[in-house]
Amino acid sequence: MSDPIVRFVGIGKTYDGVIRVVEALDLDVERGEFLTLLGPSGSGKTTTLMLLAGFETPTAGEILLEGKPLSRVPPYQRNIGMVFQNYALFPHMTIAENIGFPLSVRGVPAADIAKRVDRALGMVQLGGFGARRPAQLSGGQQQRVAVARALVFEPKLILMDEPLGALDKQLREQMQLEIRQLHQRLGVTMVYVTHDQAEALTMSDRIAVFHRGKIQQLDTPEQMYEYPKNAFVARFIGENNRLEGKLEAAADGRCTIRIAIGDTPIDGTLVETVPNGGAVTVSLRPERVQIRAAGHTIDGQPGCRLAGSLREIIYLGDHVRARVALAGNGEFMVKRPISEAHTLPHIGAAVEVFWTPEHCRAFAPES
Ligand code: ADP
Ligand code: MG
Repeated sequence: MSDPIVRFVGIGKTYDGVIRVVEALDLDVERGEFLTLLGPSGSGKTTTLMLLAGFETPTAGEILLEGKPLSRVPPYQRNIGMVFQNYALFPHMTIAENIGFPLSVRGVPAADIAKRVDRALGMVQLGGFGARRPAQLSGGQQQRVAVARALVFEPKLILMDEPLGALDKQLREQMQLEIRQLHQRLGVTMVYVTHDQAEALTMSDRIAVFHRGKIQQLDTPEQMYEYPKNAFVARFIGENNRLEGKLEAAADGRCTIRIAIGDTPIDGTLVETVPNGGAVTVSLRPERVQIRAAGHTIDGQPGCRLAGSLREIIYLGDHVRARVALAGNGEFMVKRPISEAHTLPHIGAAVEVFWTPEHCRAFAPES
């Protein structure tokens, strides 16, 4: 990890002089990576992208593009491609003219433009569509045109802001793979914005999770999913069974938690620093929880189980979900491979959900 193409150094942004929409942001974008800014609406993702594109100016800090302060690089020299959710195609131009537009404004000769437009159309699987107008294309095809227009001048950096938000689920998933493949084929650096965690996990080399203008965690999809660093990230990415409680004891990363429901303390992994007696939020992924009929003799791990009753079994083809009403209060969702479906207790049975302490993660509660 060296020679980043973009560096955000202490970037801050406020529109009204009061609310800090982006705060003390430090972020390196590595050359050739697919980096996703992921976060809920209003968390500052678009603002961060606009600062990088140069459509907004930071109120603190500096952004370096290829080592140069962005504030001193005029927009036409930035060589950044952009794709927006609303496509922003010119309705009166043909598809070929739309895609060729970034080339004609750069003074590329017409014969070259035609060749490069053809190649870009091929890349997004729209060969033969050049003479049509945007209105004659479906939403998915229009978005492909927008992607082709961002690629055609061979920028080193492409920014995409929720480009698939207007598409239906099936098309969105297909386009996710296409954009990912284009990224791999072209070796271009991508900074991609989405509020959809599944999309971020599917597409990215790294994900920066935003919340209230700050990066909560910057990690690979796998690390982000398996090792969330705080309660916000744990909640925002993937599914969770959550328990509230108080920290009873902690040593060497392991901890004991007195949970609000039920009398037996449970064991887990303490992720953040919390004082003894302090409030904690516990998160357990449904696929890390197992289930068995109550009353079996079990070895070890007394602190890694909770009693309840099995309420529902849901078959989902490749896996099965068991919904358990916990004895104290609340519910647990258990996700097991379909091969284990026949081993599940019957509905209504008294059961135990159980886990290993490394998969039971305790955080400071969300502020
Ligand atoms: P996201 O893309 O994560 O939804 P934004 O960067 O668009 O978040 O917005 C972050 C915050 O900044 C929001 O509270 C939004 O209302 C505010 N904001 C965004 N753009 C402007 C603007 N041009 N003027 C004033 N406030 C803005
Ligand atoms: Mg946005």
